[in-house]
Amino acid sequence: MATAISGKKTAVETYWCYAIDYLREDGSKGAVIGGQNTLSAAIAEAFSDATYYNGVCGYRVFASFKQHCALCQGQGEITIKSKRRKCPACKGKGIFQTIPETELVPSKHVQMSEKAS
Ligand SMILES: [Zn+2]
Repeated sequence: MATAISGKKTAVETYWCYAIDYLREDGSKGAVIGGQNTLSAAIAEAFSDATYYNGVCGYRVFASFKQHCALCQGQGEITIKSKRRKCPACKGKGIFQTIPETELVPSKHVQMSEKAS
């Protein structure tokens, strides 16, 4: 589990989630989300997802990442005894880092093709 520093230099357990948003040729959109304990693991999984949607499906693909509090899932609040309360782990911060949406484009020297199963 990764950690981030919140408030009074308290380490908070965090989680990296990612979204691969894809754009089909007809203009419709879709997305797949996932997450891992570290940024490097999240990038690896996101890359794998992106190559599928780009290489097999032929869609444009865009990746974004967020490091959020593991306890509240980035909401900054949790439910305690059926009441919404500020998350005690992150003190309400929720999301620690965001890597903005970036289009992933293969090298022009790469020919994507569906792998026979
Ligand atoms: Zn939290």
